[in-house]
Amino acid sequence: MNTLAEDIMEATKSATVPRVLVVEDEPDIAALIAYQLTREGFRVATAGNGNEALEAVEREIPDLLVLDRMLPGLSGDEVLVRLRAEAATATLPVLMLTAKREQEDRIEGLELGADDYLTKPFSPRELVLRVQAILRRMHDSSNASGGRILRAGPIRLDVDSHRSTIDDEELNLTPTEFRLLQVLMERRGRTQSRKQLLEKAWAVEAGVSDRIQTRTVDMHVRRLRAKLGPVGDWIKTVRGFGYRLKVPEGVE
Ligand code: CA
Repeated sequence: MNTLAEDIMEATKSATVPRVLVVEDEPDIAALIAYQLTREGFRVATAGNGNEALEAVEREIPDLLVLDRMLPGLSGDEVLVRLRAEAATATLPVLMLTAKREQEDRIEGLELGADDYLTKPFSPRELVLRVQAILRRMHDSSNASGGRILRAGPIRLDVDSHRSTIDDEELNLTPTEFRLLQVLMERRGRTQSRKQLLEKAWAVEAGVSDRIQTRTVDMHVRRLRAKLGPVGDWIKTVRGFGYRLKVPEGVE
């Protein structure tokens, strides 16, 4: 039995310490990731397959999901699609783990809505850095501008509460999509290179080819456009360079 003080301490800890759910069927890798994240102060839960992962999320939505692509039964991709389809988990940050030979696959993972990916074998330290980067981006998005509201026509971004709406309908953007749209809105009319977008909306990663970086940005822009509907056309492609948000004449 805990004393009241212990209960309060436990509750406070639970409320502030980020909780990570690690979904990985290889016990050694799952244990290694859990060990490393716990050491860095995260609360960690693990799930050995896709169904377990969905059950765990239903019980308590974590702050971030580390999701292996290759799982028995329900694949990592399927788990991601299901999470993105539910309003409660549509924006849950996801770091995907992929095998090296699946370079094209990991791009598909991003297309499905992962916020970042890591190729196996990876260093545990790198994984921790990625997890911290994703959570920091989310935190920055929600705190940086002290309640600032960005608007462009029907699009409204509440940078403080991390809410995005279009004509008052919830947009359900992932943290990365939110950051991307925020950067484009803050610099509306001005062209941003893919490199600039990567620096501002992602933690730029060393050792990843330009081609992958380019495709990463393109993939997220495509998803963002789709979520914005007709207004998605306002995100203009500047060929061979990057993107800019062009709000039509007469629109505030
Ligand atoms: Ca696996």
